[in-house]
Amino acid sequence: MSLVKRMRILAAISLFAALGTSCSSGGGAGPVDPLPPPAERPAFDEARAFADLEAQVAFGPRVPGSQAHDDCLAFLTNRLQQAGAQVVTQEFTATTGLSGQQAYDFTNVAGLFAGDAEGEVLLLGAHWDSRAIADQDPDPARRTQPVPGANDGASGVAVLLEMARAFSVQAPPRPVIIAFFDAEDQGGNSDDLPDAGWIIGSRRMANHWPQELPRPAQMVLLDLVGGDNRPNPRLGTPGISDDIFRLPIELESLDNAPALVDEIWSIAERLGHTAFVRNGGRSITDDHIPFIEAGIPSVDIIEFHPPEWHTTDDTPEHCSPDSLNQVGETLLEFIYGD
Ligand SMILES: [Zn+2]
Repeated sequence: MSLVKRMRILAAISLFAALGTSCSSGGGAGPVDPLPPPAERPAFDEARAFADLEAQVAFGPRVPGSQAHDDCLAFLTNRLQQAGAQVVTQEFTATTGLSGQQAYDFTNVAGLFAGDAEGEVLLLGAHWDSRAIADQDPDPARRTQPVPGANDGASGVAVLLEMARAFSVQAPPRPVIIAFFDAEDQGGNSDDLPDAGWIIGSRRMANHWPQELPRPAQMVLLDLVGGDNRPNPRLGTPGISDDIFRLPIELESLDNAPALVDEIWSIAERLGHTAFVRNGGRSITDDHIPFIEAGIPSVDIIEFHPPEWHTTDDTPEHCSPDSLNQVGETLLEFIYGD
């Protein structure tokens, strides 16, 4: 996730208001629609998901050119294969916003779960690299160290790995592709690179879609979905509004995929997953943008600026299994409840 934001709050407010009416059962005298029964679906194991978060962090920071990066790539590929996915890798070489003239090798990894081939293809994504510098660290001496990436990187991947396990237990009722994007989090302020060198892997994949894979009709991105509720020492600094794990609606998602947003947030509300809130969101440059630009309705589920964002404190101690569960259960219900 980058700091680059396109604030279009006013444009989104009217859409938000329209969406808000669809879920409010209070205030009116009319009958309340009965809740649909929960979908028959595999369970989401939050402990196993959290173990996958820790496993990624244990490799070390997954920064370009590192052994940890290589090791994690092998781990992700193996896990998708073990879950029975058709695995496709997409290798490329690029400079990033942080790398200057130095080019690095990167790899996007995708796994197809064929499901019912008649259904519309769903793409689930998360970035798997971690940022090479902790440039938001409160301690200036640590700002050249890499980010451990427990929340920023490993959390979204962990949810998707547990979902892959669920797909291996019970095939999804529609084709689902799980994609792990490389080179999301190495951006800077370069004027020479698209998106200032952020979201390189997802842009590569959206613009050069692997021919072995069916084209998605929808996309859901997970980023920074593992935060906990600990007191936030940076409360009040710009961009940090509270110390509770919340997933407000991201505004590019709302602009481009309002029905998909409403469906996902309504499911979360029905399941009692209170991290999903409808207000307070912003617009963010993240891996969903290249897919929106490719004409695919895409939603980014993201916490805006958790306290450890781009610091050396982005560790498992500041993440929560319950947060992974809120997101994972919501998405399983979304998929199996169709
Ligand atoms: Zn990041």
